[in-house]
This record gives sequence, structure tokens and C-alpha cells, in this order.
Amino acid sequence: MLTVNAYAAPSATEDLARTTIERRDVGPHDVLIDIKFAGICHSDIHTVRGDWGPQSYPLAPGHEIAGVVAEVGPKVTTYAVGDRVGVGCMVNSCGKCSNCRKGEEQYCEKGNTGTYGAVDRDGTITQGGYSTHVVVTENFVVRIPDSLELDAAAPLLCAGITTYSPLRHWSAGPGKKVAIVGLGGLGHMAVKLAHAMGAEVTVLSQSLKKQEDGLRLGADYYHATSDPGTFETLAGTFDLIINTVSASIDISAYLQLLTLDGTLINVGAPAEPLPVNAFALIAGRRSFAGSMIGGIQQTQEMLDFCAEHHLSAEIEVIPANKINDAYERVMASDVRYRFVIDTSTL
Ligand code: NAP
Ligand code: ZN
Repeated sequence: MLTVNAYAAPSATEDLARTTIERRDVGPHDVLIDIKFAGICHSDIHTVRGDWGPQSYPLAPGHEIAGVVAEVGPKVTTYAVGDRVGVGCMVNSCGKCSNCRKGEEQYCEKGNTGTYGAVDRDGTITQGGYSTHVVVTENFVVRIPDSLELDAAAPLLCAGITTYSPLRHWSAGPGKKVAIVGLGGLGHMAVKLAHAMGAEVTVLSQSLKKQEDGLRLGADYYHATSDPGTFETLAGTFDLIINTVSASIDISAYLQLLTLDGTLINVGAPAEPLPVNAFALIAGRRSFAGSMIGGIQQTQEMLDFCAEHHLSAEIEVIPANKINDAYERVMASDVRYRFVIDTSTL
């Protein structure tokens, strides 16, 4: 067992604080990763604050992990000491069900093992990337291409794959009009990725405050959703809308922006329900869908795509003692566009 430094929430209502956590011994198929950077995802905040249900505390969040392999088990074949690697939102799955066999481990019929706050195979509760080291079975480790900086690559492990996967599944590309709702961590990656795939990209943000950034990141158009005129001007426009908003919004208003047969894909995961007016769907044979992260193979494909297109996240690197401030800023939509923890400060 390895005792390592970490930052964890003592309860749903207290600030995160410095602590230590235990990592298991490196098993035959395990990789020990020296974590260099960990992104702060809004899901970390939802989870530690109990938005999605009760948790076991103390809880160290973090599922956007980038680091270097420090040790490998005797049966590991894919990785060697010194390799630059990443870990995302899951660290295991059954590997046998039809979804796992299709490479869709996130939809494992037995439930995937989340990187933190989940019951691990040995019965312990998993702890995430706000720590200096993690031990993960090699099948849930991905390779970070040499051309990507580790700090800016970390957010790709969740924000990147969560937007890449639905963009691919619903065939974003040339000739497709794609709108991204919310320009935060996920939203800014969605803009970059959809643009790189060749789609025409529109940002729908609460205000025009980040318009210059949005256009620089690859958006063709940018509109404020606080302006009711936006919903009139853009009615019936988009083939795809990706909603990345962390709060409950008026989904029916956004469904009206879809063209005939268009699809609104929800990746935002607010605690509150998202009510839908049936007429907003039936009037244009529209679809309202959801998508959860992406499989391991597709995560590797996304990283390679990012390397090929020279793109990664826009980040603000912070020391561990700024994690609680960063949480407040994420809650206030004041993030440009992902906070990344320098784990050497733990
Ligand atoms: P984030 O960085 O906080 O971005 C969310 C953005 O939503 C904000 O920047 C803001 O953009 C907009 N927003 C926030 N509150 C709003 C409100 N009340 N009304 C309208 N717009 C609002 O969060 P994130 O890390 O990108 O995560 C976004 C959501 O996706 C979270 O719920 C997270 O849990 C979820 N998530 C889901 C998956 C999945 O697998 N499906 C994976 C990761 C995360 P503007 O200022 O531009 O309006
Ligand atoms: Zn996440």
C-alpha cells in the first residue's frame, strides 16, 4: 500500500482540504502513475456537494488525470516506465458484457467503476486525481501523444471525450450546423473539436462576454441566450445541439432551434430534471438524446485526433491551495476554460 498526498472534501458542505489517501499495491496488470496535472470538472463539484446523491467522505475528486508511468506490474504489455499517460472518468468495468465488448465501457451493464467515489473491485472506494499517484489497470490507461503538453491534455480526458464522442456518434462534419450551449470546460472543447471536424459551429452562451474567445476557438457564430431575439433568429437552424450547461435550462426553447430531424444531445448533468414540451419534439421530428463520456478506444482516438489537429484545452494552472477558489469561480461561470491542478503543489 502506498500513502500519497491528496486534496479531498471532508463532507458535502466543507471546503476541500489537504490529506493523504491509500493506493493499492501495483498488481500484475496495474500501472502506477505519477500524476502531474488534474483538471477540475464541474462533475467534481456536483459529486462532492452531493448534487447526484450521497457520497462516502473524505472524497478526493479528479477524473482528468495526466502523468507519467512510474511502475508497471509484471503482466503489463502496453506501457513502460516513463510513458506519458492519462486516465479519465472510469478505472474499470466488467469487460464481458456486450457494451464492454463493443468498447463502450462507460455503458457497462454492471456499471463502470468511476475514478472516484465508486466501489472498486476490492470493495474500497475509489479516489481521484487530486493526488500525486494513482494505480490503474492498464486497460483503462490511455497514451498522451508527445506533441500535447500534459497540463493542457489533462482536460481532454473528460471534457474532450465527453464532447468528441457525441460529435462523432451524430456525425458532426462538413455541411452540418452544430450549436454548443455553454462555453465552459466542455463547451470550449466542443467548439474546438466540432470546428476541427469541419462543422459550422455556433456558440449559445448566456451573454456576449466571451464572444471574442469563442470565435478564436473556432466558432463561426456566437449568440447570447439572454437576448430573446436569438431564439427567433435561429429557429429551425441546427442539425445538432450539444448542451453542456451544468444547470437546468429551458430545453424546449433550444429544441425549437433544431432543423427537421435535428438532435439535441444533453451532456450537462444538473441535479434538477430537464422538462420537455412534447410539441417542441413532435413538430420537427426532433430527437432529445444524452451521452456519457466515451469508451477507452475512442478516448485514445480523441487524443490522437487532438494531436493531429494541434488542439488541446485552454487552461489556468493552479496550485492545490486555490482549488476551493476555483470551485467558486466554476460555479459563477468564471472559468476560461478549465482549471488544472499542478499536483506537485500537493
Ligand atoms: P463548466 O465549465 O462550469 O461549464 C458550464 C457552462 O454552462 C458555463 O460556463 C456557462 O456557460 C453555462 N452555464 C452555467 N450555469 C448556467 C445557467 N444557470 N444557465 C445557463 N447557462 C449556464 O462545466 P463543465 O465542466 O463544462 O461541465 C458541464 C456539465 O456537464 C456539468 O453538469 C457536468 O457534470 C456535466 N458533465 C457530463 C459528462 C457526461 O459524461 N455527460 C461529463 C463531464 C461533465 P456560459 O457562461 O457560456 O453560458
Ligand atoms: Zn468530468
